[in-house]
Amino acid sequence: MILARERPQIKSSAEFIALEDRYGAHNYHPLGVVLSRGEGVWVYDVKGNRYLDCLSAYSAVNQGHCHPRILATMMEQAQRLTLTSRAFYNDQLGLFYRDLCEFGGYELALPMNSGAEAVETAIKAARKWGYEVKHVAPDQAEIIVCAGNFHGRTTTIISFSSEAQYKAGFGPLTPGFRIIPYGDARALREAIGPNTVAFLVEPIQGEGGVVVPPQGYLSAVADICRQHNVLLMADEIQTGLGRTGKRFACDHEGVRPDVMILGKALSGGFYPVSAVLSDREVLGVFQPGDHGSTFGGNPLGAAVARTALAVLQDEGLIDNAAKLGDYFRQRLQEIESPFVQEVRGRGMLIGVQLKPEAGGARAFCDQLQTQNILAKDTHGTVIRFAPPLVITRPTIDWALERITAVLTAAN
Ligand SMILES: *Cc1c(COP(=O)(O)O)cnc(C)c1O
Repeated sequence: MILARERPQIKSSAEFIALEDRYGAHNYHPLGVVLSRGEGVWVYDVKGNRYLDCLSAYSAVNQGHCHPRILATMMEQAQRLTLTSRAFYNDQLGLFYRDLCEFGGYELALPMNSGAEAVETAIKAARKWGYEVKHVAPDQAEIIVCAGNFHGRTTTIISFSSEAQYKAGFGPLTPGFRIIPYGDARALREAIGPNTVAFLVEPIQGEGGVVVPPQGYLSAVADICRQHNVLLMADEIQTGLGRTGKRFACDHEGVRPDVMILGKALSGGFYPVSAVLSDREVLGVFQPGDHGSTFGGNPLGAAVARTALAVLQDEGLIDNAAKLGDYFRQRLQEIESPFVQEVRGRGMLIGVQLKPEAGGARAFCDQLQTQNILAKDTHGTVIRFAPPLVITRPTIDWALERITAVLTAAN
């Protein structure tokens, strides 16, 4: 439903791109497509061309674009009440807390907006837990993270990135973090000291290039954390909520992290909603005034997120990701391409690692665009395929034909 609202007078992709270039900071390098509509797994550009979305806004639209049930909730709630701030109670937040805690199996939740804010919240919770519960000396708390991590873009979070570009020019950086290799449980055991309060880890490194750790890694680090009274904090902002074919990627190894960090698909792409889930021992450290956000926990976001969670469960999207994700990955593995080194991933989070001589993933993504498939290169040499979880087998077959053509053509 398009309300009476001025539609853009300009029409061509080039004009929209020129506008962004002229007036926007150049902190992204988008593919040359200008989108104006989305429905399910499909997005449409300003000329009406249809594309299969294989990025899903970095897994924020697991439920598909403009899901009708989430849209209905959004419209209904937007006409009633959108923002109260947490200075007052509202009639949506408690219901969201309850549904989210029951879905995740945790005692308490703390809502934020962006993923980065949820990571910041987890860091603050871990530090305060370290001082109040573990009795670490003041200002000595240390958090262990992994090389190749991506946890967001705030000043503190980029301080522990191993990606030089993320940090260059943004110092001074926040101290208190230690970087160890990813996928190496022994490195964690050796890095833990008396002041270690938490280990922050992605169960699969998404932005790092869809890096899947060795089987048993998550359960091994969970054991090590338990033995040393260190909080295991899983950043499942990208891997959670069905993407890998389970509720959370940690479920693949039966691991329940002490702290679960969610964002992206928590709202099905309608609204920025993120959250930290944990138990009373950890989130209980926050007292009124310790932490907050004007928009965090607002009734519009809370209502939207409840429906987004319900859609994941009611429509069997988690099982769909498991079944069709395996199918998609296997079929990609069967493509005989001179450029592909490895196809890896879990569920519907798939990375195609190109050989060094393939000349980078970006050119392949540009080629895929000409075939009406939108995918984004990550880490230079990896093409990520992560379509919305509402995708069907015929659509995957449609995509495979085109992906095969691009991966087997002489570039
Ligand atoms: C996207 C992402 C974030 C940051 O989320 P924003 O909403 O962009 O701040 C953090 N961690 C992981 C694993 C992500 O994929």
